[in-house]
Amino acid sequence: MIPFNKPCLTGDEMLYIQEAVASGKISGNGRFTQKSQKLLEGKYGFRKCLLTSSCTDALEMCAILLNIKPGDEVIVPSFTFVSTALAFVRQGAVIVFADSHKDHPGLNEDHVESLITPKTRAIVPVHYRGTACKMDKIMEIASKHGLYVVEDAAQSIDGYFLPGDGVRQPLGSIGHLGCFSFHETKNVQCGEGGCLTINDEHFIKRAEIIWEKGTDRAAFFRGEKDKYGWEDTGSSFLPSEITAAFLFAQLEETDKITEKRLKLWHTYQDLLKPVAEQGCFSMPVIPPYSTNNGHIFYIVCNSPEDRTNLIDYLHKNGIIAVFHYQSLHKSNFYRKKYKGFDLPNADRFSECLLRLPIYLELTVEEVEDICLNISNFYRF
Ligand SMILES: *Cc1c(COP(=O)(O)O)cnc(C)c1O
Repeated sequence: MIPFNKPCLTGDEMLYIQEAVASGKISGNGRFTQKSQKLLEGKYGFRKCLLTSSCTDALEMCAILLNIKPGDEVIVPSFTFVSTALAFVRQGAVIVFADSHKDHPGLNEDHVESLITPKTRAIVPVHYRGTACKMDKIMEIASKHGLYVVEDAAQSIDGYFLPGDGVRQPLGSIGHLGCFSFHETKNVQCGEGGCLTINDEHFIKRAEIIWEKGTDRAAFFRGEKDKYGWEDTGSSFLPSEITAAFLFAQLEETDKITEKRLKLWHTYQDLLKPVAEQGCFSMPVIPPYSTNNGHIFYIVCNSPEDRTNLIDYLHKNGIIAVFHYQSLHKSNFYRKKYKGFDLPNADRFSECLLRLPIYLELTVEEVEDICLNISNFYRF
């Protein structure tokens, strides 16, 4: 059986966990947390990075940091994970859903501009499968209307936006704030984990307080205060050192992880393109303004029935392929509150997009086998 995903392991996870345990300090914001944050800041140029227990936590911190209040509007793509919207809904925001592009699931920046009202406070572009949204345009729209941009970069470790002038910009370093996930399904993982990136300096001080249960404990640990106390709202958003130690082992190997995933990704592309050219399904599109971090390989089936039949066929042949998000504007939770228009592109990706197995341990031979099965299904 070829599963859809196997959590990535790079080898030094247990060694670093042992080190953390032996150090006698395994609560949050210790040595491995600092090392992970420094590595991320140094490698990707984030102004400040705070590890969190999940990307959802990081998104919740953003909603608090932006002082989102009941009635404020936040623009979010419909084709995304629940957390992108939920974090803002918990602060009382009204979610205004935007559509995807016609040829790829990324947020359609032209649609975003048409959704802005005097109540809009923030735009949350989601870099689906680590493929960049058109960030120059989104930042321009935001600055024109005085809005904040929170990048949902959950899947975007090692992903870059390519502006016209060619100097690539790491995803998560462009918006005022950014959020990454290290959930076991992501390229780099620690079971449950995430991080908040802060690129607008004026959020740093308050973010540290919100992170540490509303206290100035982080400043106290650095020796900047002689005691710490209750300063603001917040929660316990930081992971333990056991989690941070595991994560650090993976962060050291990010380049190798991306390289291996891209090799698998390109094998899929080379082998499936001829089948797609017969009109059987559509291939994934990487827009010219984005790099690829190999997070997801998907095809877009011609109909929902086609997708169901292909999933069943692959399953019978020992291969697990899965669909992805269901449009949030049609979800049980939000459907009745949604006042907007139809979002046909988000719906099409909800109904027809199919993800194929991709993970560090997967072999090129296994990818070849999966592609052969897909060709057989379409009788080539
Ligand atoms: C995985 C994911 C999340 C949630 O991440 P957690 O770390 O599980 O909270 C949010 N948004 C997107 C786009 C994701 O892919």
